[in-house]
Amino acid sequence: MNPIIEIGDQPGLRVAVYPGSFDPVTNGHLDIIHRAAKVFDKLIVAVLNNTSKNPLFSVEERTELLWQATRDLPNVEIDSFRDLLINYMKQKNAHLIVRGLRAVSDFEYELQLASTNRKLCEDIETFFMTSTPKYSYLSSSIVKEIARFHGPVVDLVPPEVERALRGKYGSGSL
Ligand code: ADP
Repeated sequence: MNPIIEIGDQPGLRVAVYPGSFDPVTNGHLDIIHRAAKVFDKLIVAVLNNTSKNPLFSVEERTELLWQATRDLPNVEIDSFRDLLINYMKQKNAHLIVRGLRAVSDFEYELQLASTNRKLCEDIETFFMTSTPKYSYLSSSIVKEIARFHGPVVDLVPPEVERALRGKYGSGSL
């Protein structure tokens, strides 16, 4: 199947979905978003509303932070979903998934996820983008751990996320 899909009145537009928890968005995610936005015509960053994960930020807070951090990117849209990813993709008429790979440790899970999505819907293709080396250690969990103990996260997240973390954990020496 040709991955060039047709949406609405804009035939041939390459629409990709970048799904994740983004709890909260980090500079590592933003690096992938900026690079993917250059490759695809439209990138939908989709926040997973996963109640089993007990997130620090609500879906509304996560989407708002993503929106603020990407507002200079005209072809990036922020959304959220609680359905199975492939059902959400069908709704959006999108066939392309973007995921980031930091290290070999990400690979096994990501392969499982990509293979499952392909099994559920054979038209879906997953594109992996390797992390820029300076962000290869960075995760939302690490950021939350540092912020919880009032350590500096200024180089790890955009300014609005730093402020939001201060709001959750208090400022300390952050
Ligand atoms: P999930 O809970 O679905 O893994 P995350 O928000 O942790 O969601 O990550 C979403 C995607 O972004 C995943 O593909 C993850 O591997 C990727 N990612 C997370 N942090 C980084 C980073 N520092 N560099 C590159 N990709 C990353």
